[in-house]
Amino acid sequence: MISRQPLSQAHVAELAQEFEGMDAEDVMGWAMDAFGSRIAISTSFQAEGIVAIDLAHQIDPGVRVLTVDTGRLPQETYDLIDRVREHYGISVEIHYPDQDHLSSMTTKYGTNSFYNSVLQRLRCCEIRKVDPLKIALGGLDAWITGLRRSQSETRANIPKVAIDLSKGDIVKVNPLADWSSDDVWDYIRTRGLPYNFLYDQGYTSIGCAPCTRPIESGEDPRAGRWWWEN
Ligand code: SF4
Repeated sequence: MISRQPLSQAHVAELAQEFEGMDAEDVMGWAMDAFGSRIAISTSFQAEGIVAIDLAHQIDPGVRVLTVDTGRLPQETYDLIDRVREHYGISVEIHYPDQDHLSSMTTKYGTNSFYNSVLQRLRCCEIRKVDPLKIALGGLDAWITGLRRSQSETRANIPKVAIDLSKGDIVKVNPLADWSSDDVWDYIRTRGLPYNFLYDQGYTSIGCAPCTRPIESGEDPRAGRWWWEN
């Protein structure tokens, strides 16, 4: 059933409880049925995003896939975007930072200002990632992510569905919330899906090239992101 009515907080909270007993395929199916063309997958093409695309594509080959090109992605990620396009025969909507804001930041603080301070790093993320994503999601009623609870402490309690107050109160769907890293990689290998080759070089979380490094054995999976900030 296609519903165009905005969902209330209370209704979404009920759904979140209900979805705890459902697998990712069913949560994805609900989301795509409920929002039709008013939903999209947003991905940075990490392993979880590929699983989300694959699950959604089996339900609707026309599912919208969007991403933000920060301008600082590793070449391997650009290569993967093209491999995903080819694998599924889909388009990927690519959104870019506001050029005036970018120019203003880099002119004033240099091209690698993220190394200067936490504040400047956050500003870079805001201009290159957060703001373009907000614009990309404009006009949608819901978005799908590949977030998992075991990725970090800040994600430990994410529900499978919620109202996203930071993105204009649209619905955020996290079908993989209760998946482990092993679940993700079992799925990718079983289905022979494309993935970022940086994972084969010790990377466990992949973002912009200057802000991502491989991790050492025993380190937290996200230790390779902004590692200089401790
Ligand atoms: Fe800027 Fe680094 Fe954030 Fe990318 S991850 S937007 S380069 S601070």
